[in-house]
Amino acid sequence: MKFFKNADDIHQKFIVDDLRQKISAAAMPLTVQKIAEQELELLGRISPASAEHTIGITYIDYLVSLPWNKKTEDNLDIIRAERVLNENHYGLNKIKERIMEHLAIKVLMMNKGPRVLVVDDEEIARKNLTHILSRENYDVVAVADGGQALRELETAEFDVVLTDLRMGRTDGMDLLDRIKLKYPDTKVILVTGFATVPSAIEAMQKGAFHYIAKPFKLDEVRDTVKRALAQRTLKPSTKGSVLCFAGPPGTGKTSLGKSIARALGRKFTRIALGGLKDEADIRGHRRTYVGAKPGRVIEELRRVESSNPVVMLDELDKIGHDFKGDPASALLEVLDPEQNRAFTDHYLDVPFDLSSVMFILTANVLDAIPAPLRDRMEVIEFTGYTQEEKVRIASQFLCPKQIGEKGLSRNQVLFEDEAISRIVQEYTREAGIRNLERRIATICRKIARESLQIAAGAGVVNVTPEALERYLGRKKFHFDVIEEQDRIGVATGLVRTESGGEIIFVEAAKMKGKKELIITGSLGEVMRESAQAALSYIRSNAGSFGIADDFFEHHDIHIHVPSGAIQKDGPSAGVTIFAALLSLLTRRPAHRDVAMTGELTLTGRILPVGGIQDKVLAARRAKVKTILVPARNRADVEELSLDMKKDIDIRLVDTVTEIVDAVLM
Ligand code: ADP
Repeated sequence: MKFFKNADDIHQKFIVDDLRQKISAAAMPLTVQKIAEQELELLGRISPASAEHTIGITYIDYLVSLPWNKKTEDNLDIIRAERVLNENHYGLNKIKERIMEHLAIKVLMMNKGPRVLVVDDEEIARKNLTHILSRENYDVVAVADGGQALRELETAEFDVVLTDLRMGRTDGMDLLDRIKLKYPDTKVILVTGFATVPSAIEAMQKGAFHYIAKPFKLDEVRDTVKRALAQRTLKPSTKGSVLCFAGPPGTGKTSLGKSIARALGRKFTRIALGGLKDEADIRGHRRTYVGAKPGRVIEELRRVESSNPVVMLDELDKIGHDFKGDPASALLEVLDPEQNRAFTDHYLDVPFDLSSVMFILTANVLDAIPAPLRDRMEVIEFTGYTQEEKVRIASQFLCPKQIGEKGLSRNQVLFEDEAISRIVQEYTREAGIRNLERRIATICRKIARESLQIAAGAGVVNVTPEALERYLGRKKFHFDVIEEQDRIGVATGLVRTESGGEIIFVEAAKMKGKKELIITGSLGEVMRESAQAALSYIRSNAGSFGIADDFFEHHDIHIHVPSGAIQKDGPSAGVTIFAALLSLLTRRPAHRDVAMTGELTLTGRILPVGGIQDKVLAARRAKVKTILVPARNRADVEELSLDMKKDIDIRLVDTVTEIVDAVLM
């Protein structure tokens, strides 16, 4: 029975009518529209005062607000795209090249001769249509009925199907239904001699692109097909279809993602995966209680009102350990082109096609990313910037940007290069340029305020090295390792952390005891094992290093790596731990300005390690003079720019002896 009695009921009827209108205007796929209509029907039968009623209304309201058929048109001008990338970003040439290649492939896929399937039981119509369309350089296949058409569709993709409405066995309307269900991106144009308004409307409602009446005009056919093709969007191919930007913070990953969106003319949005705690954050909550919500992906598409934005999934490596459920499988449903065509958010409970979304992942480090996800990604590595690059980026991009954002004009403030260089060295300590931008912002903010206090027309404000202390306070970092003295049992190493390359000091101490090895300083499992391997190597070769045979019987060894708040892991500290230990046990001080990286095996071999470029940058920041790199990393060293090799001695080492010679006095 229906509840229509009083003012509440009139209000209720108003809401239902409003939703009904919205449903027909929402351009949903037919299956979804039917479900929405059924839900609405159901609402009429339950009390408006009940919780189910509220849940139902909210649900339908949500469904109709989604961008089912709303897309931005892609700008496929690849030269313009390159210009946009260059406009906002200094350097990064290799990365830009990779991105341009990625986009070019997509554009080529798009521009690959469009394929049109003609379905008509009259031979003469088939011939005519094939003739007209082939002359437009389309790849045309013509068949006589719906069954043959479906077989063709199974073997190859078609962009447009031009089908007769009335045919022998399957009619055009059935074919339309099947195509919309299985190949939602294929545009269907119906052609018929029995053109009547009702069947035209029905076809359009079912998702037909357009309707042409027989006898057709050649121009009309040509134009309609052309318009249908214009609505194609970039589709990812399967493997490596998702870009993943990996590298330290502040190296331009997010802003480059934004530029890609701008280049393509797409909307842009970001989802921080680091903040997600639960599968439901990705897939949505089931619609069983008031307050149930869809997942973030669907929510963002709704917010940007487009079904083909660039969506940046940030901090892939930060998905919490306490995440409830399996984040990788939830993400695969979102990212995998084979699954995401029919992504079903638990709240929506109907499939939503995510295949036009361009996903870009970001991560600081790639180690923890599950293999099935990594398979789908094309990884582009971002490394830190050199001192020189930072200064150039700051003077060309960050300073003008901050000056503008703080309401100043460019000829009001002048940052001297030497001042920028000092900010980089004395007020920041990072691989990227996030803090550098913050410091510049602070200075601009102070200048903006001063400019209001001083009488108008005060002229140009010069930001000089001397002025920095006034704006930013005392310098924050004293970075030179060489200022401190060389010591016994302390060696300088290079590791890679989430924030890029880092310099570490491995300390070793001995005390009376019984063969114990104590390890402290937030070291991960792999690094602990490196320490054990280094110690075992020294013990097994004690004689050749001049260490007394029974030394280890009566001593404990303690290895510590200060700045314990930073999580450190990975095998690349092996040689540094070895050097610190040997320095301790042979009482030879280690050169502090010689920094090293490399994995050490139990037999004393030195294995190559990752992140050479980031490590060299860290060494430069710390004013190290000599870097020891495994010989098998030769290719990485050769790839370094001249800027990076300037004034620093990078030596390739093959054996433990070479390390001993270079490090110990
Ligand atoms: P990430 O996402 O890697 O942490 P962002 O994209 O947020 O880094 O970059 C931080 C800031 O540095 C942004 O303001 C960005 O525009 C700027 N930036 C980074 N790299 C460059 C570059 N190569 N040229 C110009 N600006 C850059």
